[in-house]
Amino acid sequence: MGTLAFIATLAAIWYLAYQGAGATLWVSLLLGSLVTVTLATDIRWFISTPLWILATAMVLLLGVPRLRRKYITRRLLKQFKKVMPPMSDTEREALEAGSVWWDAELFSGRPDWERLLNQPHTHLSEREQAFFDGPVETLCRMLDDWKITHEDQDLPPEVWDYLRQERFFGLIIPEEYGGLGFSAQAHSDVVIKLSSRSIVAAVTVMVPNSLGPGKLLLHYGTPAQRDYYLPRLARGEEIPCFALTGPEAGSDAGALPDTGVVCYGQWQGNRVLGVRLNWEKRYITLGPVATLIGLAFKLHDPDHLLGEEEARGITLALIPRNTPGVTIGARHIPLDIPFQNGPNWGKNVFIPMDQLIGGEHYIGKGWRMLVEALAEGRGISLPALAVGAGKVCSRHTGAYAAIRQQFNMPIGRFEGIEEALARIAGMTYQMDAARCLTLGALDIGEKPSVISAIIKYHLTEGYRQIINDAMDVQAGSGICLGPSNLIGRTYQALPIAVTVEGANILTRSMIIFGQGAMRCHPWILKEFAAARHPDRQRALEDFDHALFGHVGFLLGNVARSLFLGLTRGRLSHTPVKGPATRFFQQLNWMSAAFALAADTAMMTLGGSLKRKERLSARLGDVLSEMYLVSATLKRFNDDGSPESDLPLLRWSCERSFYRMQESLRLLISNLPFRPLGWMLRVVLFPSGLPWTEPDDRLAHQAAQTLLQPSDTRERLTAGIFTSDDDRFREGVIETAFVQAARVAPIEKTLRNARRAGAIKGGSREAQAREALEKGLISEQDVQALDQMRMLRRRVIAVDSFEHYGKQHLLNENSHSNHEAVQS
Ligand SMILES: Cc1cc2nc3c(=O)[nH]c(=O)nc-3n(C[C@H](O)[C@H](O)[C@H](O)COP(=O)(O)OP(=O)(O)OC[C@H]3O[C@@H](n4cnc5c(N)ncnc54)[C@H](O)[C@@H]3O)c2cc1C
Repeated sequence: MGTLAFIATLAAIWYLAYQGAGATLWVSLLLGSLVTVTLATDIRWFISTPLWILATAMVLLLGVPRLRRKYITRRLLKQFKKVMPPMSDTEREALEAGSVWWDAELFSGRPDWERLLNQPHTHLSEREQAFFDGPVETLCRMLDDWKITHEDQDLPPEVWDYLRQERFFGLIIPEEYGGLGFSAQAHSDVVIKLSSRSIVAAVTVMVPNSLGPGKLLLHYGTPAQRDYYLPRLARGEEIPCFALTGPEAGSDAGALPDTGVVCYGQWQGNRVLGVRLNWEKRYITLGPVATLIGLAFKLHDPDHLLGEEEARGITLALIPRNTPGVTIGARHIPLDIPFQNGPNWGKNVFIPMDQLIGGEHYIGKGWRMLVEALAEGRGISLPALAVGAGKVCSRHTGAYAAIRQQFNMPIGRFEGIEEALARIAGMTYQMDAARCLTLGALDIGEKPSVISAIIKYHLTEGYRQIINDAMDVQAGSGICLGPSNLIGRTYQALPIAVTVEGANILTRSMIIFGQGAMRCHPWILKEFAAARHPDRQRALEDFDHALFGHVGFLLGNVARSLFLGLTRGRLSHTPVKGPATRFFQQLNWMSAAFALAADTAMMTLGGSLKRKERLSARLGDVLSEMYLVSATLKRFNDDGSPESDLPLLRWSCERSFYRMQESLRLLISNLPFRPLGWMLRVVLFPSGLPWTEPDDRLAHQAAQTLLQPSDTRERLTAGIFTSDDDRFREGVIETAFVQAARVAPIEKTLRNARRAGAIKGGSREAQAREALEKGLISEQDVQALDQMRMLRRRVIAVDSFEHYGKQHLLNENSHSNHEAVQS
């Protein structure tokens, strides 16, 4: 009886913890267990009496808030204040900016899958689709990337005109101001398609639609500013840039030394109150051609013309290019990707107060405005560029591997190449899924700052991996630049994507978990807010609520991690039945394990976790991989769970789970307090480490999706510029790819016949003739093989130049591409 009662009590404890029960249920359990033990067992009085005294004390402490606060919470609050990391105003503003969304579910240890799956899958509206099929397609056909990058180092005037005429600079500006008023999804789709033709064009379009005057005016502009500037920006009459970075302020942009002093000055012939500015900025995209500079600086009011405060903080203003004192510098050359980029300076530039974005009301709120705008913009532009690269490599490099032959075989059939192709396909599938999930959130009005950091970092890192793999596969044909090269400029542009909008090392080490832990954790921010509350009684009450909520959360995650770890997620809730079921269950497990690991690291390291960037980065990696898996599962579900996409789903999920496991393993083995690491290892992985990299069979299946025409390949690469017109480089490779699939069985017949000795060796033409004579293949087959040989020659040809660096092209490929563009 005693043993049974003991087991029942343990089971009840575990159940309450698993369900995250509150104090009342714990107190009831405690009393219930003691009553049962006292009445149903022959426990001796000298054991039961201390137990009852202890239980009564715990009931009083846990069940009576006044006592609990006085004897427990007050002390803990004092300790908490001591270890609480200091936080600057800019840090706090950055933390508070934006919203939390699916990231908070992943942090909860028990994600609500229905919430994810019920989020509508966004599609282009009719108007957006028409723009995509019309002006975007036309623009793609106008773009000659080689001419832009090598000969002109700029977009040609007719492209600039077309961008203005079709309102490419006003994608995000509402129709009432003359813009196109497109969704985030449409904006991203446009960037992807343009980037597949010319990264210079894509960057030129994405920057005015991203963080900059347009977006800032939309959110914070005064009515007069919006009415004046937004129509001009939408029509391209004003070309904007946004100038934050300077020589002394890169990643630590909040430390910018540029100043504005409140004073009186002359503006259009009148003496008005305004700001005298001095700045030095560099790396500013569109800067050299901009007519309107969005400027970030620190505002000072030494003469107290605005009020008591002297240092007013980071403020944003709009500076017309022709304002006296403004100097636009020469151009930088960002890795030979010649979008407009350069430095600018201002010396004693005077502007009136109404040039401050949002007017006086937004003085000193510049950092928050920037972080909020970044929370949105960072989730669109660079992820689109990265996914565009993934799609280009999936389609063209996959095709190249099917067309290029060495050792008498398409190189895509070699296992080494398959390994690279599997990564290209699997990662593109997952990256595109993460892009779309995030755009869906933006389109329902979320500003998910942690998620946008996750996808900025992971998608550009994915781009890094993919473009390196593609370069390995295409080898010389990827390296030799010229009009026929399909991936060279995409390769060169990679470090730019990695560096801008939050350089990647910083984003991984400081931002993702640093911000995620504070924003997404259900209790931490509440504890901080309570500890900072000026009213001591209120601080105590709020801290008490947050603290005991946190304890329940922690116990719940211990119970869930152990149970889910022992069962490897089996038996846990899954919203769908089918091939994806196990991945949902495994993610339930990882969510609980992550929440517990994060809490353990935060509780033991406190403020020093901020300096332990490696640990913080690993926790951020787990959170990120969970987001990527969620997105992949949602994509598979939204697409109707097509069986042919299964290799990509499985490859990307298995890789992500392996990466989560390895990040947790490294976190555990690097926690400074070793016994805690050992305990965590047992609770998180009680049944061992289950995951490995995707196996060879799966990698083979994933690679196959790129090597022949299929619906999966079409879905994977949808949205980039393609053509069946062989005057375009994309058309040449596509035609050859289709033909390669057509002749693959004929080539196999020839290979088998050679192996069996039915035909002799010799050139391929000779083999084909002999096979024809022996009736092994038909006349039509021979013609198909001849055609394939010609197409293959065109695909593998690279450009050569009479004078290195000059414009004399020697091969025909290049001319045909030029002609196509001109026609
Ligand atoms: C082509 C291009 C276009 C750009 N366009 C614009 C624009 O339009 N407007 C604008 O204002 N800016 C623009 N930038 C600036 C861009 O945002 C900065 O380059 C970026 O913020 C990094 O600054 P930095 O290059 O000075 O590097 P640094 O700040 O010197 O950083 C160097 C390295 O240190 C790392 N690092 C820094 N601090 C930490 C830390 N605490 N922990 C870990 N790692 C850290 C960074 O991740 C990076 O890897 C552009 C830059 C480029 C190259």
